[in-house]
Amino acid sequence: MKVTVDQDRCVASGQCVVAAMEVFDQRDEDGIVVLLNPEPTAEQAEDVRHAAAVCPALAIEIQD
Ligand code: SF4
Repeated sequence: MKVTVDQDRCVASGQCVVAAMEVFDQRDEDGIVVLLNPEPTAEQAEDVRHAAAVCPALAIEIQD
């Protein structure tokens, strides 16, 4: 799995961090998403898919 995020689309809602905190973080200054791990492990994959599904800005893209 490979993950990309679009910081221009992100609305800083933070759901991705709640869903997969080992893969996503938010910038301290404005809450915009930061991708910690662009190649999540198999164990993290389900949480990352959940994060992408709940992102209100559709800012998370997944490639298998
Ligand atoms: S869930 Fe989407 S909009 Fe919210 S912080 Fe994460 S990437 Fe940004």
